[in-house]
Amino acid sequence: MRRAKILATLGPASNTNEIIEQMMGAGLNAVRINMSHGTQEEHAATIKKVKQAAKKLDRPVAILVDLSGPKIRTGHLQDAKPVTLEAGAEFVITSRDIQGSVKEVSTNYKEIPKLVKKDDKILLDDGAIELKVTKVTKTDVTTTVVNGGTLSERKGINLPNTKLPIPSLTEKDRKDLDWAMTQDVDYIALSFVRQGSDCREVRDIIKKLNTRKWGRPLLVAKIEKAEAMENLDDIIANTDGVMVARGDLGVETSPELVPVYQKRIIERAVMNDKFVITATQMLQSMIESPRPTRAEASDVANAVWDGTDAVMLSAETAAGEYPVESVATMKRIIDTAETVQTTKLKRPFKFTEAPTGRTSQALCKAAAYCAREIKTEKVAVFTESGLMARRLSSVRSGLSTFALTNTDEVRNQLALIWGVEPLCHEAGTTTEAMLKDGEKTLIKAKTVEKGETIVMMAGRLSGLGLSSSVIVWTIGENVPRR
Ligand code: PEP
Repeated sequence: MRRAKILATLGPASNTNEIIEQMMGAGLNAVRINMSHGTQEEHAATIKKVKQAAKKLDRPVAILVDLSGPKIRTGHLQDAKPVTLEAGAEFVITSRDIQGSVKEVSTNYKEIPKLVKKDDKILLDDGAIELKVTKVTKTDVTTTVVNGGTLSERKGINLPNTKLPIPSLTEKDRKDLDWAMTQDVDYIALSFVRQGSDCREVRDIIKKLNTRKWGRPLLVAKIEKAEAMENLDDIIANTDGVMVARGDLGVETSPELVPVYQKRIIERAVMNDKFVITATQMLQSMIESPRPTRAEASDVANAVWDGTDAVMLSAETAAGEYPVESVATMKRIIDTAETVQTTKLKRPFKFTEAPTGRTSQALCKAAAYCAREIKTEKVAVFTESGLMARRLSSVRSGLSTFALTNTDEVRNQLALIWGVEPLCHEAGTTTEAMLKDGEKTLIKAKTVEKGETIVMMAGRLSGLGLSSSVIVWTIGENVPRR
């Protein structure tokens, strides 16, 4: 059973029923809908296809909607033609409404002249082009091109290390969030998070608009700003999970800091029982090639060894030539990496840490110890909202974790979580019935065999009287072992 999960961005290269089904067959666990491109209507059609494919293949698939956030972009160019900026040339970024040329370009963020000063660095197109500010007027920022390159329309503008007075949730994001909450999706990602209060605001909206009986869409805070790294613990405390958004993070800070930050973010998230996605350029060369570079294969494996819940594909599956091969390649790299898992992850990850005082941690660690003592690799967790399964996952015990849940929504959501195989079962009306039903579901899914002894656990299941329990259970015997 594969532990680390695969999240793939859907786009023109992959948003057909056929490709979505093929990607699921190749190992896809979750899809990302990127609100920076396309319309709500187009995305609604894609979401429908994902749900159809999941139903057809009877596979849980999580859906993540990624809000665009306050990305500063260059404006239109004359005849939409890319321009080539030569090193040493003068180039102006202006708040005036103009059709851009090789000399100047407008921007969607009119406040830029107020925020930059002489000698500041400005990066265009994910850092491909570097500018140095020479003069600032009320409307124009004049720069010298340090590293030249080709500039197309609507490319990103980054002002590294500048604290922008723009909220993470823009007006467009608010509309997209309202829409996403009508689409039965599992995760909402917030871009350019700066501090915990950005997350609180969005989590409150999600809670208010939530229509699910059990659980709710979970918030993913995208860590892509130097300011977010300064406030990492505050953000982690106020979100459900995080994304190491290495594309913008590498531009807003610097490429050599990305691996340092990746390790820090994953460790802090897992330690605090939050899930974590590692994203961007993981198999970048597969946009055009059917095989990854050796460096890319190593990058995916290292993210797995760092302890990430999921690895993400972006342009590889959204716009690349080999979307299905990219998923299949990622699966092979993860499978291989996990067969030589480091000893650190073989042992329960958190056992040497200071006690947290949290009941959920006590139960999850007890389940992991119990499994080791009775020499089983399997634990089944009853979970209504999915929370206990996520908690158990974050112990990183390495056990095969079967999450028994009552709803398709929670089953889909858990598809993204490390080491969890989510299964739907009918919860009985008594604890005994529930244990037996759980057993039936495990047998039907061919996850256990008669006579096999496993660990079963539950945090709290309302109305059933089963609370805070770790049970040793032999399949077919119908009573917990003492
Ligand atoms: C990133 O910057 O790495 C990222 C995932 O964000 P986006 O693709 O939305 O720019």
